[in-house]
Parts: sequence; C-alpha cells; structure tokens
Amino acid sequence: MAEGNRFTSGVVPPKTRIDPAWWFVFREDDLLVAPESSQTRVPYLLDVAELKLPILSKHYVGCLGGRDCYAVEVAKVTAAPEGMTFEGLRQVYGVIDEDLFWVAGRAAQIIHWDRTNQYCSRCGARTKIHSTERAKECPQCGLLHFPRLDPAIIVLVERGSEMLLARSRRFSTAMYSVLAGFVEPGETLEEAVVREVYEETGIGVKNIRYFMSQSWPFPHSLMLGFTATYASGEITMGDGENIDAGWFTTDNFPSLPGKMSIARKLIDWFLEKQRKANVSGPRSN
Ligand SMILES: [Zn+2]
Repeated sequence: MAEGNRFTSGVVPPKTRIDPAWWFVFREDDLLVAPESSQTRVPYLLDVAELKLPILSKHYVGCLGGRDCYAVEVAKVTAAPEGMTFEGLRQVYGVIDEDLFWVAGRAAQIIHWDRTNQYCSRCGARTKIHSTERAKECPQCGLLHFPRLDPAIIVLVERGSEMLLARSRRFSTAMYSVLAGFVEPGETLEEAVVREVYEETGIGVKNIRYFMSQSWPFPHSLMLGFTATYASGEITMGDGENIDAGWFTTDNFPSLPGKMSIARKLIDWFLEKQRKANVSGPRSN
C-alpha cells in the first residue's frame, strides 16, 4: 500500500457521512467498476443508494487514506448501471489502483463470509451480524462465526544461482511460479514448507526463513511467504497440482506471475540478490 494511503480496518460505520466513500459492490464474486479515463475505478459516492441497485447487505470495511470504504452485496440478477461493468476480482487485478484492489479483496472476503454464514453451523438458527466485532452471532446458542482464513505457505527454494519454480495445472499460460500449498491442521508453517516442497517436487529443503505475508482473496487465503535452500534430492513430479518444475537462473527465464503477487516479490528478491552478487562477486570466467 502506498504511503499516505494507509488503511484502517473498521466494523462500526461512522454515525454520519458528509464526504463520499468508496463502494465495493459485489454481484456474487464480481466487482462493480467504473471506467474513468484510462483507469478503472470503483464507485466513489456519498451513498450507494444513488446507483439504485437491489442491495442484499452492506458492511463497513474501514478507511483508506481518510476515505470510508463499504462492501455491498447486490442480487444475482442485477444489471450494472450505465457506463459501469461487473468484473471478476482476477480481471481487475493489476487494472485498478493497487490500494483499491487490496480493499476490494477485504470487501470480497467480508461478503463471502456473510453469504456463507447465514445460518449457525451448530444449531441451524439464522445468524445476525455482531454490532461491534467482525462476527456473526447465533441468537439461539451464542456461537460466533468469524470470517474464515485459509493459511497457505509460499516458498522460494534456492540452490546457488538457481531457484525452483513450477508450472501449475491451474495456470492457463506457460507461467512458472514458486511453490505454494495450504497448511494442514496440527502443522507448523515450517513443517508445511518442508512437506509441500517434497510432495510437489521430491526436493528436501533447509534454512527456512520467513519473508512476508499477503492476503489472497481467492476466496480467503493468507499467503505466508518463506525462503529456503536446497538440501537434497532430484526433481520428481508427483501427481499433485504441478505439471512441470525446474531450476531456473537469470539466463533461462520463464514467464512469471504479476508484480503485485507475493510470488513475484519472492522471485524479484532472489533476482536482486543475484544481480548484486554478480556485480560485486568474483568473475567466474
Ligand atoms: Zn446456534
């Protein structure tokens, strides 16, 4: 997030609104966007009611750079207002302003949580929104339903000047990325790193270090980034989610994930480290 555009999370909306707010309006998983000049944006209005849409729910999300942000869910059959369109979050990734994208990701997760927790999972009663916490409360048995987060590790494995990248079945293009996978119940993050790399490629790793984290709203993952170094083994493809894997250097580069992703931040970190080593290190030839 850019400096000056700090986001402050909030649950209770301001009592009065005298300035316009950002409205993150979702029709199922699609976000309402308004093309304005060349940059696609989300509606910035005093009230979403101005758009005359069939609203199912409305949630205060927080404040971005002094501006209030709301998540709104509209009915499935809603047509976009004139000059606007509903687009998948993945389609607006890299298109709308980066700060707005991450707030849209928060908004999408709040809408998804609200939609999938209409009834108590213990007693079946209809839940209601908690007045001060991001929770849905069962009026019958008192169970609280919080937004779900799925922790997943993502790891760059290095071996000297090479890094381990794989091509997922899910990628529509010939893109390669670092390895990632969900954390299992009872597992530490470090254990998840070791298991995931071994399951996907047959490679053993050591020196596991925390890198950074990133929310990934597809639909509610928290990506926990690590770096690790090669310890043992040869690449063997399992029948997991990848169809190819290999050791890559700056000389044999594949197509890479988008700039905003934590996967790319890990790869760029490695490339920068290599660049510095090549500048300052001894020449090998
Ligand atoms: Zn209940």
